[in-house]
Amino acid sequence: MKTDIAQAAGMIGQKVTLAGWVHARRNLGKLVFLDLRDRSGIVQVILGPALREGVAAVKTVRPEFVVQVTGTVQARAGGRENIERPAGKVEVQATSFVILNQAKTPPFEIANEDRQANEELRMKYRYLDLRHWRMLRNLKLRHDVIRFIREYLSARDFLEVETPYLTKGTPEGAREYIVPARQFPGKFYTLPQSPQQFKQLLMIAGVERYFQIARCFRDEDTRGDRQPEFTQLDVEMSFVDEDDVLAVVEDLLTTLLPAVAPAAKITARPWPRVPYAEAIKKYGTDKPDLRQNTNDPDELAFAFVIDFPLFEFSAEEQRLVPTHHLFTSPKDEDIAMLDRDPVKAKAKQYDLVLNGYEIGGGSIRNHRPELQQKIFKILKLSADEVEERFGHLLEALSFGAPPHGGIALGIDRLIAVLAHEPNIREVIAFPKTSDGRDLMMGAPSELPKAQLHDVHIDVRKVAP
Ligand code: ASP
Repeated sequence: MKTDIAQAAGMIGQKVTLAGWVHARRNLGKLVFLDLRDRSGIVQVILGPALREGVAAVKTVRPEFVVQVTGTVQARAGGRENIERPAGKVEVQATSFVILNQAKTPPFEIANEDRQANEELRMKYRYLDLRHWRMLRNLKLRHDVIRFIREYLSARDFLEVETPYLTKGTPEGAREYIVPARQFPGKFYTLPQSPQQFKQLLMIAGVERYFQIARCFRDEDTRGDRQPEFTQLDVEMSFVDEDDVLAVVEDLLTTLLPAVAPAAKITARPWPRVPYAEAIKKYGTDKPDLRQNTNDPDELAFAFVIDFPLFEFSAEEQRLVPTHHLFTSPKDEDIAMLDRDPVKAKAKQYDLVLNGYEIGGGSIRNHRPELQQKIFKILKLSADEVEERFGHLLEALSFGAPPHGGIALGIDRLIAVLAHEPNIREVIAFPKTSDGRDLMMGAPSELPKAQLHDVHIDVRKVAP
């Protein structure tokens, strides 16, 4: 086993075997200096005259070669400590040196942390892009955030439950990805836009407190930095009202921050709750940026936007559509209004906004089948459509559904903000380009005829 470079920093006088990638090479008279990099740090390695003359590998070694070095750790005169990437204060006087693998010249410099290459190149060679310290640090932050969330919620008796990826559509306002069902010609699964129905069904099952770090799939046209698949912290709780759900989220995130982003400063506590109408009137948006100093990268202004209208009028569809989704409950005092003037009814719905981004949203749901039916009627879903799409949910609600509600937080955006990254691609290991391609794997791709035949698909000639 090798010693990690960060660990070697504390082993002055001892013999170590290190392994990693050559970050840089410098020749100085009879000596060769290598900066050796592994996941934990960078250290200077000195290859003396004996190695330089006696070991052929030393002559050929170049950046990104994979090497193994044995030698003695010593203090480095004038070395600088880099807390984030340790081992700057020591160096290793090598006694043996082996090349474990060679490397072609990479398409961009790994030792240069500036985004020197364009997006396409970075995506095509993502595994090299991820060698950058900044990217590795983002992956680590993501790991820390998710681990913290898991531990926090588990300690409060939430159960993490996995829900299916191959399922039937549940509306969240986007187009669905579809998967042909080989054994059922002409039928399809869809990939979930969110686990919405499943988490409600888990409440009916008596789980009471659920969460999942859930992948969601939405087939939307290119829009800024959206990804076709993204990750949500999905939460659902029984016997709760709006305040209970918001309290869990506020406490979770305020406890999380000191653990993963100690420099972060929250603008106001408790987090402001801004009614939707006020947000629109005062800020002209339902995602107000409440930071006091937008130049301070460490300032985090959380706010809940509450009291959304239950419906909005869609000019495109010429009918009412849900502001959030059709499982959201109206405010108790507005239920009577549903028959007279549904567009005026407010919802038990909330969004979480951070620095002007919507990073989450949720609601208290309709747990009584009659009320859910009424919402379907207002949305002008036909009886057949309701039966076909939501019959199972209405039936489930009729078997003693507890009052319940929840929220989903966009993990990618939260981490991007904490990492001071402008785009969620920077905090996802293998993201798609903004137009939904995976340039490294070459997806989407055509498939052999036989494979399509198996799943009963005949591809129409499409105009190029
Ligand atoms: N399923 C919702 C969403 O993805 C979140 C929720 O209502 O809990 O936005």
